[in-house]
Amino acid sequence: MGDAPGNPREKCIFADVKEKVHIDAVLGEVLLRRSTRARRVSIRIRRGGSIVVTVPFWVPYAMGVSFLESRREWVQEALERTGARNADLPEGESVDTLRARAKAVLPSRLRSLADRYGFKYNRVTIKHNVSNWGSCSTKGNINLNLNLMRVPEPLQDYILLHELTHLHHSNHGPKFHDELERLLADHFSQHAEEEPFQAIILAVNTSRARYPFTHVLEKALKEYRLV
Ligand SMILES: [Zn+2]
Repeated sequence: MGDAPGNPREKCIFADVKEKVHIDAVLGEVLLRRSTRARRVSIRIRRGGSIVVTVPFWVPYAMGVSFLESRREWVQEALERTGARNADLPEGESVDTLRARAKAVLPSRLRSLADRYGFKYNRVTIKHNVSNWGSCSTKGNINLNLNLMRVPEPLQDYILLHELTHLHHSNHGPKFHDELERLLADHFSQHAEEEPFQAIILAVNTSRARYPFTHVLEKALKEYRLV
């Protein structure tokens, strides 16, 4: 430890750098590195949008994590500036392609969630707008945004369950949230073996929010923009 420059150990870079993948509830996958060369905790955003937090060797990873959490806004702004994260709309993937994929995937997912949790809706329509991820009318018609094809599955399911819950409660009052939290807890426990769901469950388990699933999922969703 505390290698001075020129110390022969420094050449053996692999012995002196340890790495660990951390899943941040908002930012997603982050690489934590402990390095003998580092003198302070730092955050770097690589080209392509991956996030690296480096801590000196004598600092525990947990300090890197809390530093990252205190700088989330900065990181998100930096990601938006580089356009890295939100550029995951693959080139050549037109709105038409997204719409076709959305039509192939979302109505049947909505159907199976509705059947599982006992919801009856009227009609589902795939929409393209920049104002919402989904909506539910008083007539029981559900609209889903084709942008949902750009977000991970747990977030898609969150939106679908959110709109289904509106069939019982048209507002966002406590009854709406109580029911939605119950559904999310059940649905996520069904998928607890799948990595993208695990990351959310982990964040939910440490959340002190009143509606932890909604809280964590809304934050995660902010990483994506409607285009
Ligand atoms: Zn709503």
